[in-house]
Parts: sequence; structure tokens; C-alpha cells
Amino acid sequence: MADDQGKRHVVVVIGAGPAGLYGARKLTEAGHAVVLLNRDIKPGGLAEYGIFFDKEKMKEGLRKQFKRILSDPRLFYFGHVTVGQGKAVTLEELKKIGFSAIVVSAGAQGTKRLGITGEDCLGVYHAKDVVYHYNKLPPFSERPYEVGDRVAIIGMGNVMVDVANWLLNYKKVSEVTVVARRGPKEKAYDDNEFEVVEQYLDNEDMRREIQKIGPRLEAAGQNVEEILKTFVKETTPPPDCRLRFRYLWSPHQVIGNSQGRVGALEVEENDLVLQDGRTVAKGTGRLSRIDLDCVIYAIGDQVDSAIGLPFSRGAFVTSPEKAAGNPSPSLYQPYDPATGKVLEGIYLVGWSRNASVGLVGVAKKDAETGMRVVNDYLASKEGFAPAVADQKIEALVRTLEQNRASFISKSDIEALEAVEKEEARKRNTWEYKFSSDEEMLSVIAARKAA
Ligand SMILES: Cc1cc2nc3c(=O)[nH]c(=O)nc-3n(C[C@H](O)[C@H](O)[C@H](O)COP(=O)(O)OP(=O)(O)OC[C@H]3O[C@@H](n4cnc5c(N)ncnc54)[C@H](O)[C@@H]3O)c2cc1C
Repeated sequence: MADDQGKRHVVVVIGAGPAGLYGARKLTEAGHAVVLLNRDIKPGGLAEYGIFFDKEKMKEGLRKQFKRILSDPRLFYFGHVTVGQGKAVTLEELKKIGFSAIVVSAGAQGTKRLGITGEDCLGVYHAKDVVYHYNKLPPFSERPYEVGDRVAIIGMGNVMVDVANWLLNYKKVSEVTVVARRGPKEKAYDDNEFEVVEQYLDNEDMRREIQKIGPRLEAAGQNVEEILKTFVKETTPPPDCRLRFRYLWSPHQVIGNSQGRVGALEVEENDLVLQDGRTVAKGTGRLSRIDLDCVIYAIGDQVDSAIGLPFSRGAFVTSPEKAAGNPSPSLYQPYDPATGKVLEGIYLVGWSRNASVGLVGVAKKDAETGMRVVNDYLASKEGFAPAVADQKIEALVRTLEQNRASFISKSDIEALEAVEKEEARKRNTWEYKFSSDEEMLSVIAARKAA
């Protein structure tokens, strides 16, 4: 064994998205063994099931990096294993097994709601679910998402652009209306991302909209002429398909039709006010409505409280005080307000620490910085003999068996990927994905039996 034997540890990482995978690499590079538990059969998280399906180069590049990370013999992959109350294994059971540290990199799987009347109508969807659907993540891939012909997307970030891309270029809906609380200048999407839907923008409608809200933009110190120049282009959308924006609108109520499906969206008009240097939307009480078939919330997500950590307002709780250190460990540790203490040996990274914030590069950097904290913590503890990794894994497998939960290994993933590659080749496409767990599991079982 290497001379780091005395400091060798076994760490469990929950979630094999970019944060979990890049984080795991930092741990194995430091000589530790990593047990990686992942809800989905396949690794990759939103890099696999979030990034738009036609971004071939980006997706293939990330898959290659993830494959390399997973090939490390010190990394043990357990796919199709959800951590949480009533799931394959609980956080308490993992603690009992005695891993040296637990890293939570499970992303932001909780759903944010607006809390408005009518949001339980058929045809109100959450962007994450829709994105999982079109990227073929079970069970979302197997559910119908009936969008009709006129769709409103609430929110104006990059996820809105992805959803509009799917609706306009693939579902061929006739009208997408982006509903935004604030004005054009407060957009959160990137212009280069927007290019995929720009051809559908109804520029005449955009001009009228900006002119209509012009006085309210000017009241917040904004220059309407400049905004018109930036946001109104010269192109005309195709006759049967258009994208339009409604600014300074907050959803107030979803109005259902007689079948309980979305019929319209009622909104409250906002003023734009400057508050501590920020532009803030302030309701005016004036209501208007648009007729629609579907409403999609693209307003970000929250973490999943079912994992079993202290949770408040959509996030896992961290310490209100910043502990000394660079990076400060307390930024990466859950905190129990009941005891006033951080949960020793448990860490948060990526979207589990900062829900719905940033691209893959941001999640990677966050995980790598977080692992500096974890590696420092491990270095301060007595290490294990090498055989301990096997004992911890055996204890985990026993716990999963007791809970009647099965799991997918690295070699199973390789077998599945080989079959999917072969299917893609036959169909002459760059990728092919099985879209149900049953299909994936039977392909894996068939390969094992062969
Ligand atoms: C629609 C959309 C499009 C995007 N497009 C881009 C893009 O084009 N380019 C870009 O750079 N970034 C893009 N991003 C951002 C990028 O996907 C994220 O920054 C990144 O994936 C976050 O990584 P993460 O590991 O924190 O979380 P995730 O990627 O969400 O990974 C979480 C992992 O945890 C697992 N998990 C969840 N719950 C549990 C549990 N209870 N137990 C065990 N495992 C669990 C999941 O199976 C998943 O594998 C996009 C995001 C979205 C939502």
C-alpha cells in the first residue's frame, strides 16, 4: 500500500452529476476510496439529462471525462440507488456504516411552486420534469407532457430558452409566451443560447410590448430607445410559429377549463422600482389574462428535503456564521439550527449547496473547492487500513439487500452503453437512449447472462 495508508479513508458521495463526479476525482486523487451512490441508473446528472439533447459535442466531451473518472479502481459506483427516507438507503444507515465523510451532491431535485390558485391544473408543468422528459430520464420519459398549441413559460433564464427550443423546434407549437416579472434588461438568459429560438421572435410584437411598458422602464431609470435597439431585431417569424415576451407580469392565477386543464393565465402587472441598486418588480393590482393550453414554470428548483438534512426555504441549512478558513468549511457543511452545530463529517457541493446556480463549470469548481475542505477534514482524522474499504462496501450491500434495493455497477453501465452505441449505429444517429428503467435493466441482465 502507498505511504498514505495511515490517512486513507472511505467517503460516500451521494449523486453522480458533475459535482459528485468531479468531487469524487479530487478524493481519489488524494488516495481515498469513494462509494458513489446515484439515483439514476446512468451517471452524469443534468449533464446527461438536462443539457439539451442536440449539444452533441458538449455532451460527448463530458461523458468522456466522466468515464475516465469512473474508471478509477478506487471509485465504486452504485447506480439506481436513491438516498432518503423510505428509499434504497437512508442517511442514518450510511452514518451507521461509518464512512469517514458523506458528501451530498444530489443536485436540486425539489420542485418550486408559485403557490397561486389553479397551479394543480392539468397542463401546468415544471421545467425540470419537461427537460428530464425530452432528455429521456425515466420515469419522466414515460409520462405524456401534453403542451397543446399555446404555451406560457414563466421565467427568462437559459432553462426557458431550452424549453422554448423544444416547444418551437421539436413540438412545433404555434405560440410561446415568455412571462417575466421584470423587464427586458433583467433577462437571465445568454444571447448565444437564445440564438436557437431567435428566428421565432415576433419583433413587431416585441416593439409594441417595449413601447407599452416604456414609461414604467423609464421610471426605473432605464433608456427605452436603447432597449428597443437591443431587443427588437429586423427578422420576421415564420407565419405559423412565434415567440413573444410579456414583461412586468407576475402570474396570479391559472384558470382551468371545464376538463380541469389549463385554459388561461391571469397575471398581475408590475411596476419596476429601484431598491438598493436593484430593479425590483412591484405589483400594481392591475390584472390581465391570456388564453393558453399549457404553463411551464422555469423558475429554478430547490433541494430535496427527503434526503434528511436540515432544510429551510428550499435549501439545506448552513451555518449563519462563517468559520475561519479559506475556503470556509461552514459554507460546505449542513447546520442544525436546533443544536446550533454543523453536522460533522457531512458536506454539500454543487446544486445541493446552491440550487439551480450556474453551468457545469460552476458545479465542478464548487465541488473541487468543497473537496479541499473534505480532504483537510480527512487529513485531520485517523486513517483506515486498505481492507476497510471492502468492509464498508460489504456493509452497504448488506443494508441495500435488507432494504430490498438492487444496484447497478460500473460494468453494468459499460454493458448498457455498448448496447446503446450499437443501437445508435443501426439508426444512424449520434446517440440512442433507452427511455425506461425496465429496458435498461433488461439490457443489462441480458448482457450479464450472455
Ligand atoms: C435544463 C438545463 C440545461 C442546462 N444546460 C447546460 C449547458 O448547456 N451547459 C452547461 O454547462 N450547464 C448546463 N446546465 C447546468 C448543469 O447541468 C448544472 O450546472 C450541473 O449539472 C449541476 O451539477 P450537480 O452535480 O450539482 O447536480 P445534478 O447534475 O443535478 O446531479 C445530481 C445527481 O444526483 C443524483 N441524485 C439526486 N437525488 C439523489 C438521491 N436522493 N440519492 C442519490 N442520488 C441522487 C441524480 O441522479 C444526479 O445524477 C443546465 C441545467 C439545466 C437544468
